[in-house]
Amino acid sequence: MSERLQIASQALQRPLCNHCLGRLFAKVTSGLTNEQRGLLVRISLTDAAPEPSDPTRCSICKGIFLEIEKFADLCVRSGEGYEFTTFLLGTKVDVDLLEAEEQLWADIGAEEVESLKSELNREIGKIVESRLAITADFSNPEMVFLVDTRFDRVVRSVTPLFIYGRYRKFSREIPQTRWPCRECRGKGCPRCAGKGRMYETSVQDQIGPIAMRHAEGEEDFFHGMGREDIDACMLGNGRPFVTEVRNPKRRTLDLSAIESEINSSAKGLIEIEGLRSSSRSEMRAIKESAHPKTYRVRVRFQHVLDDRKLKDIVRVLAENPISQQTPTRVSHRRADLERLRTVRRIEIESVEGQEVVFVVEADSGTYIKELMHGDQGRTNPNVADVAGIPCEVLQLDVIRIGDKEAEGHG
Ligand SMILES: [Zn+2]
Ligand SMILES: [Zn+2]
Repeated sequence: MSERLQIASQALQRPLCNHCLGRLFAKVTSGLTNEQRGLLVRISLTDAAPEPSDPTRCSICKGIFLEIEKFADLCVRSGEGYEFTTFLLGTKVDVDLLEAEEQLWADIGAEEVESLKSELNREIGKIVESRLAITADFSNPEMVFLVDTRFDRVVRSVTPLFIYGRYRKFSREIPQTRWPCRECRGKGCPRCAGKGRMYETSVQDQIGPIAMRHAEGEEDFFHGMGREDIDACMLGNGRPFVTEVRNPKRRTLDLSAIESEINSSAKGLIEIEGLRSSSRSEMRAIKESAHPKTYRVRVRFQHVLDDRKLKDIVRVLAENPISQQTPTRVSHRRADLERLRTVRRIEIESVEGQEVVFVVEADSGTYIKELMHGDQGRTNPNVADVAGIPCEVLQLDVIRIGDKEAEGHG
């Protein structure tokens, strides 16, 4: 008798349904269901016990496959009201069943097996697929059902909607993201006049709620490719962002209509363009990417600078690595670190008396204000030191994200 038939004959010392018998040989042949495979194994053994007429007597699954239609129904009902075209399904199964199965594998030395959960997931999934005319998707499902077979319950989790775009910010008074009040952490208190936030609005507030209303979602998150200071404008080609809407009921959205609605309701505070659908992986890539940025910065020196000093500034900053200790203005919330950054390009755009406008292209993460005034020596070299004249930053704008060559492709 072949080794496999020996395993089968040992397995059938206990009552087994065809599903549970077939799973012991799941990896032997493909193209069959476990139930069909179990039946074939049973008839190829001359003295095999017949399948128990009552599947609940199966010593492994206790007849759980009688219930798969019901589990599929629970999933279908749980997904009602939500738009989704792909899904993934998982199950929670009584631990006694799983232990009985593992014990059987150990007792008979079965190795070409599939687990009970894996068969359940697939068989319930097949029914859901045909009921809803959608497909299972393991890598990027729009909906995940977790079927708890012990309590006939389904937990639904809707994949968030991710929408990519670029924003320009024309206001020097709004932050990029919603900023809960420091005092009350969002509950509302006298300091924030009951609003729970430090600022009236934000780039996020101009975009998220509108996207959320269209998607019929419950919560919005904002992921920018870096951020600018509140008092800096974001100009030029705009900053890439991904808006995330949690628990969306709708996924097919008219993004150009949403874009116009956001732009008209923002009343010039911000402007967005290029909305398109995105993904969690793109969102992560955007958050982690480190593109150089170009800034226009208006600085006032305490005295007028001569030409030689202006040339020195350009030369020293372009030719030396810039060492920056965490700026004093953010040191209360960030670790005190030294970092090295490069000024890739620095030009003088205009000089009017004590005011000089620089255009600076620098590595991602360079603190530009500190690069100008020096932050009490914490940034080196810095413009004020090279000039030998203290200065203050009057205005800072981001005018491009990415380097010049990249612009044509993006
Ligand atoms: Zn069974
Ligand atoms: Zn408050």
